[in-house]
Amino acid sequence: MAKLLLENVYKVYDGGVRAVSDFNLEIDDKEFIVFVGPSGCGKSTTLRMIAGLEEITAGNLYIDGVKVNDVEPKDRNIAMVFQNYALYPHMTVYKNMGFGLKLRKVPAAEIDRRVRRAAEILGISDLLERKPKALSGGQRQRVALGRAIVREPNVFLLDEPLSNLDAKLRVQMRSEIIKLHKRLATTFIYVTHDQTEAMTMGDRIVVMKDGFVQQIDSPATLYEQPVNVFVATFLGSPQMNVFPAKLYNDDGLKVLFGNDNSVTFGKEKAKQLSAPCENGDDVLFGIRPENISLSAEGVEAVVDVVEHLGSETIVYAAIGGLENNVIVKIPTDHSVVAGMSVRLAFDMDKAHLFDYGTKQSIMGVPPQNFFECKLNGGVASFANVTWELPESVSEKLFDFAEESCRKLYIASDKISLTEIPDSVVIKGKVDFLSVGSDSVSIFAKVAGKDGYFVVRTPSTTARPGDDVDFYVPYSAIRFTDGNGVRLISREAVSDNVARCTVKTTGEKTTINVGGTVLSYNAADIDTPDGEYYIKLLSDKLDFEFDKKYAKKNKLEVRPLENTVVAKAYDEDKLGGGKNAVFLSVKGWDGYVTAVLNDEFSVYKMPVFRISVPQNAFTLTPVEG
Ligand code: ADP
Repeated sequence: MAKLLLENVYKVYDGGVRAVSDFNLEIDDKEFIVFVGPSGCGKSTTLRMIAGLEEITAGNLYIDGVKVNDVEPKDRNIAMVFQNYALYPHMTVYKNMGFGLKLRKVPAAEIDRRVRRAAEILGISDLLERKPKALSGGQRQRVALGRAIVREPNVFLLDEPLSNLDAKLRVQMRSEIIKLHKRLATTFIYVTHDQTEAMTMGDRIVVMKDGFVQQIDSPATLYEQPVNVFVATFLGSPQMNVFPAKLYNDDGLKVLFGNDNSVTFGKEKAKQLSAPCENGDDVLFGIRPENISLSAEGVEAVVDVVEHLGSETIVYAAIGGLENNVIVKIPTDHSVVAGMSVRLAFDMDKAHLFDYGTKQSIMGVPPQNFFECKLNGGVASFANVTWELPESVSEKLFDFAEESCRKLYIASDKISLTEIPDSVVIKGKVDFLSVGSDSVSIFAKVAGKDGYFVVRTPSTTARPGDDVDFYVPYSAIRFTDGNGVRLISREAVSDNVARCTVKTTGEKTTINVGGTVLSYNAADIDTPDGEYYIKLLSDKLDFEFDKKYAKKNKLEVRPLENTVVAKAYDEDKLGGGKNAVFLSVKGWDGYVTAVLNDEFSVYKMPVFRISVPQNAFTLTPVEG
């Protein structure tokens, strides 16, 4: 039993690899969460940070409300099952399962009770006296699960546990793990690169790419409302067809592709176009294979390849003017053969549109609602709302954000229809509802806002025509400048303060901050020896290129004085050629915020040196 919260979690490995960026997730007690994505996307790193096997570079991890960043793995009450189940070959199944408990000095009778119970749950009671070499792959994997179960952990972490099994066994073990989750009623976090495993096992799925979370949602919603082309094509087999097209909005919303083929959205679906479009705009048109059928009328195509898979047939067909075949999934039909001319009907209610450039979805339920916004003296005005910013929000806004802020985004799935604390009210009128497999989306008109305000909720009693108050939690609101660049920091801007010792010897004054030593001309500092608080001034710090990075990019290394190693984990663009950079620096407990010019980017050079010139800090004596 455990709730987990990952807040702005980052991992930058020592070599500078950014494995995980800004991972945010709240996991409910007893939830089955799956992390999925291609190899190298950061799934295992995230899991290992939860387990405590990998240090968290920045951000917070809470288990049941307690911050555990620095808690030893053994004290987190978490059990991990790996792909490589590494059983001790010389020990029996019984001993393999009980060994960890024995090390923890659990009494023998208790070990016996737990091992026998786990064996019973897993159906391996008759194997307890066998050695691993006398077990099949599936049985060994069960023993590995048993070893985790006997620890009676609050959270199970499973890292590709089925990858070493053959296809048939994987399917069987998949359903056994689902049953096990129900039976143990414990939080499960499961890592896989296999989208079928993810879709069949998870209550919710986290789709990752290149260290960034792409989308977190139920399998049904991810399938029906993917936020971008990556999610759309990663989930589903065969994958969604996505091809270049042009959009026209006269006499209905139409998509043109290939040699003059055209398909039209229904009136109601057309309302779900969430981006302003001009006639002839380039878009990407997406449609799943099962949403295309063979019919008497429709788009002309020639069958290229046919695959009969028992209950269904997959048809690969060429549409004139399109580079790739379109994939069609139909009930088994042996009359369809290669070379045949067919016509394809598209179920346009199930079709998708993506922005040609950003590859983000522009049709259906948008993940974010967009508003034009003005910020003035700590008051944000957008649509019909005037919102005096509370401190928890304003402390994260950079000073000079005020003039440039022009946009505000609100996550569509974080909005409540009943009153919640720390929220802003937006008044709207429901225009229509769009019903998905496990959620309903409300498309509402809000005075002063272009397009719809969209709210996705598990269920609702709201009906078209209703006047509704929408409660938007502060955490669901994000400010950006006119270019969509974030203006609000993920974290409060740090005060950059640390305790230090000042000591003058002859001509030199040294400032020792927890082992980091800065050295200045005594005459310039003119401060008596003693204990002080040093505060770094964000905008007075300078930086030095990493030598390797400088060489590679033919940049000049400026020799600077008083440099300290800084490990950067994130940056926020501030506009005006400046970046706010969040750093960990030895000696400072929390992070340090530095405002550097934007030729520097942590994404290119996460480990570097900052310099602390003598005008870049203040010293305040420690009282008493
Ligand atoms: P996944 O589990 O999704 O395959 P990982 O979390 O294992 O991905 O890896 C994410 C990224 O971090 C990859 O680029 C990988 O090469 C890198 N990485 C993983 N472990 C280390 C390590 N110990 N040191 C440096 N880089 C690492």
